[in-house]
Amino acid sequence: MNYARHLTATPQSERADERQVQNSAGGFTFEVTPWQRLDRWLILGCEGGTYYASERKLAVENAKAIRECLALDGPKTVARIAEISEAGRAPENDPAIFALALAASDANQKTRAAALAAIPRVCRIGTHLFQFAESVNSLRGWGRGLRRAIGAWYESKSVEDLCYQVAKYEQRNGWSHRDLLRLAHPEPGPSKAAIYRYLVGAPCIEDREVKRGERSVTYPAVPDLPEYLAAFSSLKHADLKQAIQLVRDYRFTHEMVPSEHKNSPEMWEALLESMPMTAMIRNLAKMTQVGLLKPLSADVQIIRDRLGNEQRIHKARVHPIAMLSALKVYQHGHGERGKLTWTPVQQIIDALDGAFYLSFGSVEPSGKRTLLGLDVSRSMECGTIAGVPGLTPQLASAAMAMVVARTEPQWHMVGFSENMVDVPITPRMRLDEAIRAMRAIPFGGTDCALPMLYAAGNKIDVDTFQIYTDNETWFGSIHPHQALKAYRSKSGIGARLAVVACTATNFTIADPSDPGQLDVCGFDTATPNVLSSFSKGEF
Ligand code: CA
Repeated sequence: MNYARHLTATPQSERADERQVQNSAGGFTFEVTPWQRLDRWLILGCEGGTYYASERKLAVENAKAIRECLALDGPKTVARIAEISEAGRAPENDPAIFALALAASDANQKTRAAALAAIPRVCRIGTHLFQFAESVNSLRGWGRGLRRAIGAWYESKSVEDLCYQVAKYEQRNGWSHRDLLRLAHPEPGPSKAAIYRYLVGAPCIEDREVKRGERSVTYPAVPDLPEYLAAFSSLKHADLKQAIQLVRDYRFTHEMVPSEHKNSPEMWEALLESMPMTAMIRNLAKMTQVGLLKPLSADVQIIRDRLGNEQRIHKARVHPIAMLSALKVYQHGHGERGKLTWTPVQQIIDALDGAFYLSFGSVEPSGKRTLLGLDVSRSMECGTIAGVPGLTPQLASAAMAMVVARTEPQWHMVGFSENMVDVPITPRMRLDEAIRAMRAIPFGGTDCALPMLYAAGNKIDVDTFQIYTDNETWFGSIHPHQALKAYRSKSGIGARLAVVACTATNFTIADPSDPGQLDVCGFDTATPNVLSSFSKGEF
């Protein structure tokens, strides 16, 4: 009997280290710091909950964690929220807006002031501002500081941008610009007075003639209303031909076009000319359905060119998850509720696939021998990433692992649940094929120690283990950090372990006191490069 093995191998159902806490599956794991938890929240959110916890429970827990950070250092928390939001590192801005609303409702005056000052950085468009108003409304009263901060959002916009914002997003989440202006009373100055009058519904006093080249159009106008908004008012009552001309002249977006004109391919052709990247990606199905996008058409070529333009993708801050979501929806040929159907154009699916990889920016390979371990247990099949229907942590993490496999010269991809599982994907597959292949994998329990045990048992030389998991490990007879230690001593390689978290929980299998172990957030645009420099031993 070798009693010594009990000192180096503890079942995951028991505590192996006094710092460990019980995860939601009943196993013991380490706990992330409040700052790591904040990052997980900002990037992963909790839409749809997880296998073990409801969305509500996770939201409440995360609010507690955010408040913990606010108590530790309010201004630092606000800076982190603004930094991640501004850099477009998260698939959704909602978690950042919620965290900012919590900060704006904090007991500490300095924290509140920092949060209110950060509103224009986090709430960059009208929708964000409405969402912030809705969140903050349930957390605190509308004091003078908050009113002034909302007013400052309007004051900070140029006349041009403000016109665009108010036309594009008139109201959302039960809030309109009219509501906010009535609360905030921003200082108008001569250039914005007419915009505010227009928004609060002050009556038009006289019509206005606007010359556009040869033509002249009469717009019913609020006096001194910027031409853009006057034209926008007339768009609401224009016939199709006039509406298309207005869209071309003023680069109006699809949100601004009345719905009766939105089944016209000519209208979508005009919209496509200056359509922002994100809107383009979201409307590929619609443009295919109305007949604008069809095999061998010039407009398909326009889409392909734009999706192949790395600079353009970065400038628009399109998140890889948005690309993945668009691909997943588009290739289906029908919408979630089945109302809209279309015949997908193959070249567009290919272009979306390429754009997914471009949206991470340039990723430096580490050149290290990398073992990619994908958790394919039952819990990874639950919940959604960024609220995308059907985009489970498992599917999204497979896509993330493909980014690494495409970059690194030496990689080996394996799956694990309670046993090792074949992962029938290669980075040469298109993402939709990979998703289909991942779906066929059977469910099982979770043992995050398996990739290390597998490498040790098969004498595979690994410099870096990357494990994509929700950290809800419970099944194994040895803890993952112990298995790593055993692997190091058996192989003689000082192997590193990077844990890529796929849900916003409190747990990690990585031992925080070991510099050779790292916990990162999945689905963060910064993650592939962080993984690579960790692998290289740069930190
Ligand atoms: Ca699991």
